[in-house]
Amino acid sequence: MKITDHIKQANKTLFSFEILPPLKGENIEHINKNIARLLEYKPSFIDVTYHQQEVEYRDLADGRVEKKTVRKRPGTVGISAAVQYKTGVNVVPHLICGGFSKEDTENALIDLHFLGIDNLLVVRGDAAASQRYFKPEADGHPHALGLVKQVNALNKGIYLDNELENSHPTDFCIGVAGYPEKHSEAPNWQLDLKNLKDKVDAGADYIVTQMFYDNKKYFNFVDECRAIGINVPIIPGLKPIATKKQLMTLPSIFHIDLPTELVNEVLKCKSRDEVRQLGVEWSIMQSKELIAAGAPVLHFYTMGNSDNIEQIAKAVF
Ligand SMILES: Cc1cc2nc3c(=O)[nH]c(=O)nc-3n(C[C@H](O)[C@H](O)[C@H](O)COP(=O)(O)OP(=O)(O)OC[C@H]3O[C@@H](n4cnc5c(N)ncnc54)[C@H](O)[C@@H]3O)c2cc1C
Repeated sequence: MKITDHIKQANKTLFSFEILPPLKGENIEHINKNIARLLEYKPSFIDVTYHQQEVEYRDLADGRVEKKTVRKRPGTVGISAAVQYKTGVNVVPHLICGGFSKEDTENALIDLHFLGIDNLLVVRGDAAASQRYFKPEADGHPHALGLVKQVNALNKGIYLDNELENSHPTDFCIGVAGYPEKHSEAPNWQLDLKNLKDKVDAGADYIVTQMFYDNKKYFNFVDECRAIGINVPIIPGLKPIATKKQLMTLPSIFHIDLPTELVNEVLKCKSRDEVRQLGVEWSIMQSKELIAAGAPVLHFYTMGNSDNIEQIAKAVF
């Protein structure tokens, strides 16, 4: 079932969450356990992130430096299929531009289609660790917009090889990312919103937001989107704070602001457990307000450990 159909059929705010594939070498059991504890709260869908390969430079014993390409978290497609068939919950694999030619993308879409997966979240991906700015593959997409257009074309049966006969259309429901506090690379807020509208006009069916800790940012974002004619569902993304270090890392990685009150409360905490509990309470407060305002879904970033998400889900769903 498509994400947009889940939303249309619901008469309440739905629950969903995102998982990361395990690091290479780890097994899938940790993920299975994390998912199992959240199934009780009836998630409507589960996202599985995609991780681009990275280039690493390793010192060799003879003094030379070896350049190596590594994919630290492979397995998005396999995990997506395994989770969907094991749990019966719709999965939403993420698909990125980084590291993919258009041909690679088409082949990945064909795999997902044959696996019975018809929901996607389409994003550009960040610059690889070794690069300052995002660089697409020679024949890849520089922006998520191109990826949305390619998926939408495939939904109409238009493949890259336009000489294919009797080509079969796919039927993907397409999600894209939105930024209540602006994407870091956008020259300004209006252009970022316009770029988001272009993705929706090109066929995106819904938006999932970057995490935020002040609901006013989300409410304002929704108002601004509606004002320029973006009418698809806008799903808020939430990530409970779990460590003091995140006071620095979240703003620097995700380019978001943390409210003063939250920062002050985190600083007062005397242990890791206290911070984790505070993060849960802050998220519960955000969730209740978002539900009261009629948010279509609350989408949680689990980052691998779901005990805190379980506490939130227990309190609000
Ligand atoms: C919900 C969510 C899920 C995510 N999942 C993943 C994941 O699984 N894997 C991963 O690697 N990353 C993921 N990310 C991170 C994401 O890849 C980064 O935030 C990335 O920097 C931007 O992706 P995007 O799809 O928003 O890019 P885009 O929509 O391409 O936008 C990127 C920047 O380019 C600008 N822009 C867009 N179109 C144009 C244009 N035509 N001309 C000029 N400028 C333009 C935008 O304003 C923006 O500043 C996720 C982010 C979110 C919010």
